[in-house]
Amino acid sequence: MAETQRCTHLLADLSDYLDGDAAAEVCAAIERHLAACEDCRVVVDTLSKTVALYHTLPPPDMPDAAQTRLFAALNLDEFSRLYRQ
Ligand SMILES: [Zn+2]
Repeated sequence: MAETQRCTHLLADLSDYLDGDAAAEVCAAIERHLAACEDCRVVVDTLSKTVALYHTLPPPDMPDAAQTRLFAALNLDEFSRLYRQ
């Protein structure tokens, strides 16, 4: 019965965890939970891949104007400037 509560708690800390900003005990708790919870493993796997893609890879083939609008919509102006260099 506590499983759903634990998932909710974990998801609240997930962005910090993925950014590497979570406290060590939070990371440990998340990793313990992930070992036991396939649903959350899928969520974390998907989110971490998304984050990694945005940080390391150019976006898929996309017209410049659409890319610029997307970055603006996502408030990624800084990121957008990096791509133009
Ligand atoms: Zn879970």
